[in-house]
Amino acid sequence: MSLIKDAVNFLLPANCSVCGRFPDADGKLPYEVPSDFHICFDCLSKLIPHPEERRFFTCMSEPYKGDPIPGLLLYIPYPYKGFFEKAVPQIKFRGHSELASFVGMMLGNIMAKDGITADLVVPVPLAPSRQKERGFNQADLIAREASRIIDVPYSEDVLVRTRDTLRQTEITGSAQRGLNVHGAFKVSDDFVADGLTVLVVDDVSTTGNTLHEAAMALYEAGAKKVLCCAASGNRAVLNAESI
Ligand SMILES: [Zn+2]
Repeated sequence: MSLIKDAVNFLLPANCSVCGRFPDADGKLPYEVPSDFHICFDCLSKLIPHPEERRFFTCMSEPYKGDPIPGLLLYIPYPYKGFFEKAVPQIKFRGHSELASFVGMMLGNIMAKDGITADLVVPVPLAPSRQKERGFNQADLIAREASRIIDVPYSEDVLVRTRDTLRQTEITGSAQRGLNVHGAFKVSDDFVADGLTVLVVDDVSTTGNTLHEAAMALYEAGAKKVLCCAASGNRAVLNAESI
C-alpha cells in the first residue's frame, strides 16, 4: 500500500495549500501535516502571531454610545497579513476547507498556550445561501478543530442567522456595517445558555460588529460570559503599530 502511495506522491507531488507552489527537486519543500493538507516552508514562516501582550482587544473597533456590552473582549492571536492574507481567500473562494482545519489547529494551539477556555465553543454561522454556495462554513471548521485542542465542548447549532446579510467587506463605514448585522443572530430555541461561558469564533474580524452581534444574542439567551475570538485581524495590527 505504501508503495502505491509513494508512486502517487512521486507522480503527483503535493502542492502547498496556501500558495500552490510545488516542491523543489529534492522534494523537501512542502511540510506535510496529517490529512491531505500541505504547506511550504515559505508560507509556514509567515504564520507569525501577535506578541503575547497584544492579543486581547475591545470587540468594537469604534465603540458606540449605549453599547450594552462595552467591555466585550476579543482575542485575535494572528494579524491578517502574511499567511492569513493568502490563506483566507484560498479558504473562502477556492474551497480549501483543509486549510480552515489547519487554521483551527494553529488557533487551538495558541489558545491552549494562552490559557483560553470556556464551557462551550460556537462558530459564527454563515448565511445559509453563502454556506450552500461554499459548501462549508470556515468559522465552523476553524472553531471545531480549536475546541478539540483546548478540550472544550463544541456546538455548531447554537447560533443561527435570522436573516441574510451582505458581506461586511462589501460595506464601507463602521455604522453601515453595524446596521448590516444588527439583530442578525439568535440562539436556537431549544438551547439553554444560562450560566455558561461561551467562546464565539470567527475567521477574521475587522470592525468587530459581527462578533459583537453574536455575543449579544448569547447574552440575551442567558450566557454568563461571552469571549469573542477571531483567528486573525488587521485591526489588531493597526492598534499594535499605533503604540
Ligand atoms: Zn506556500
